[in-house]
Order: sequence, then structure tokens, then C-alpha cells
Amino acid sequence: MIRLEGSKVAADLQAELTELTAKYREQGIVPGLAVILVGEDPASKVYVGRKEKMAEKIGIKNFAYNLPSDASQEEVLELIDQLNRNDEVDGILVQLPLPAQIDEQQVLQTIDPAKDVDSFHPENVGKLMQGLPGPKPCTPNGIMHLLKAYDIPIEGRHAVIIGRSNIVGKPMAHLLLDENATVTITHSRTKELAEITRLADILVVAIGRPNFLTGDMIKDGAVVIDVGINRLDKKLVGDVDYETVAEKSSFITPVPGGVGPMTIIMLMYNTVKACELRRIP
Ligand code: NAD
Repeated sequence: MIRLEGSKVAADLQAELTELTAKYREQGIVPGLAVILVGEDPASKVYVGRKEKMAEKIGIKNFAYNLPSDASQEEVLELIDQLNRNDEVDGILVQLPLPAQIDEQQVLQTIDPAKDVDSFHPENVGKLMQGLPGPKPCTPNGIMHLLKAYDIPIEGRHAVIIGRSNIVGKPMAHLLLDENATVTITHSRTKELAEITRLADILVVAIGRPNFLTGDMIKDGAVVIDVGINRLDKKLVGDVDYETVAEKSSFITPVPGGVGPMTIIMLMYNTVKACELRRIP
């Protein structure tokens, strides 16, 4: 069994992006990322902090906005409108989830698709579905990058995804399809789940249930990607029961240190790319 070390692959990409950003800075162009946090959710604060820190390390300029938890829809939309028009800002990210009074869809649809570094805008989702160029959503794209970094073949293999969220499961399916995998999406209403997961050559688990996938649910030699981040007894655990699954799998991502670092670095990649597309002649 080989551990898919997302931290290491992300560090290599970080070095590449740092070099690229330094080159753009010499030309007087500083890639910029605006991160909007609404409210005080502790987990969201941690995620935002990590993104801002990584941006800083790479040489991306941070534009940080922390709106109060009772911020109105208009306030959020007005800020996005301002950032859409700010030429120094290449990427705009709104940390989810948003407080209940805010209409998430309207917020995401207000972001200029050219600055949509999370790739949640319907225009970019449509491009992804049709295989057209555009930003790719960070977590699934990070997983694709990780698979490629370890030369794991995808074409013709059966990839099973557990979870059908807009953030992970659905876009993951499209990226795997683009690489000619045969893809099955499963979810909470799927019957006889283990019978399907046992057919997987590549299994992506993104459900948010600690240690859900156990060794008896996979076939020998499967590649297992654990997207889950769950807090259990003050420890971070994935959706995969690492002990029982690791011994049967050929490759497996650890939690932490697997998919998480890949997600963050893909956000940086999308920001630098968005800058290139908008500002580098
Ligand atoms: P979500 O809550 O939006 O979706 C969960 C999906 O899991 C749903 O489609 C649901 O049908 C499915 N599901 C739930 N219970 C199931 C069951 N018992 N059997 C089969 N399917 C089931 O979640 P999400 O946003 O996709 O996130 C999933 C997990 O991944 C969470 O733990 C989240 O924290 C984590 N996550 C990690 C990263 C990262 O960078 N590592 C990024 C995004 C999400």
C-alpha cells in the first residue's frame, strides 16, 4: 500500500507557483485573492486562515473581508460587485456555508466567472460539464492532480464516488469522465452500497461520516481517496476507516495530509491562472 502524500505533491506545486508569481511581480503584476468570510464559524475561520497563509507564502496578495454574522444579502452582493470591478483582485472566494439569511446561490452567481476561483458559478459548472476550458473546482481537481502525480491509470477503470455534492461528488465525476474512467456516483439513497463500492478500481469517498468506509467494502488493490474531514474525539478523521481499508488498498490518502492540502493549492493555482488570463498579455 502506498500513501498518497497530498502534502508533498502540494509542496511541489507551491514551489512552482511561487516561482511564477515572483516572475509576474517583476513585471509589476501581483496576483490578488479576495476571501470573504461571513460570521464567526470556527471551522470556516480555520479554513480561511489556511488559505490566506498559503496565498501569502506564494506571493499572492490577500484581500480579506470578515463580515458580521448578521450581514445582509445586499452587503455581501455589494462587496462582491466592488471586488468584481477591482482590477487588483483576480480571484474571489466566499467561504461556505453562509448564514441562513444569505441566499448562497445568488451570492455565487454574482461573482464574475473570470474571478470564480472556486468554480461554483453556473457558467463554469457548465464549462466543466462540456469539457470546455475554465477553472476547475479545487477539491476534485486536486484529487486528479494527486492521481496523476502517482501515475495512477484512470482510463478505462471503474471509478466509484460516494457523495453527490456540487462541491465534490458531481464535479469529481466529470473530471474522471474526461479522463475516460467509467464512473458511478452513489449517495445516501443508494441501495446495496457495498456491492457497488466493491467493484471500484478508484473509490472517492466524500460524505462527511467518520470512518464510514470499511475494509470489507472495497476490493483488493483499490485506490482509495478520502475527502472527508470529521472531528472525532478532538481528532481529525476521514470518511474512511484507515486501518482496515489501508491493508487492502493499493493507494490511499491519509487524513490529514491527503486531499486537504491539494484543495488549498488548487485554489492558489486557479488564482494565478485567473491572473494570467486577465492580466498577462
Ligand atoms: P455534503 O454534505 O454536501 O454531501 C454529502 C454527500 O454524501 C451527499 O451527496 C449524500 O447523499 C452523501 N451521503 C451522506 N451519507 C451517506 C451514506 N450513508 N451513504 C452514501 N452516501 C451518503 O458534503 P461535501 O461538501 O461533499 O463534503 C463531504 C465531506 O468532505 C465532508 O466531511 C467535508 O468536510 C469534506 N470536504 C473536504 C474537503 C477537503 O479539502 N479535504 C473539501 C470539501 C469537503
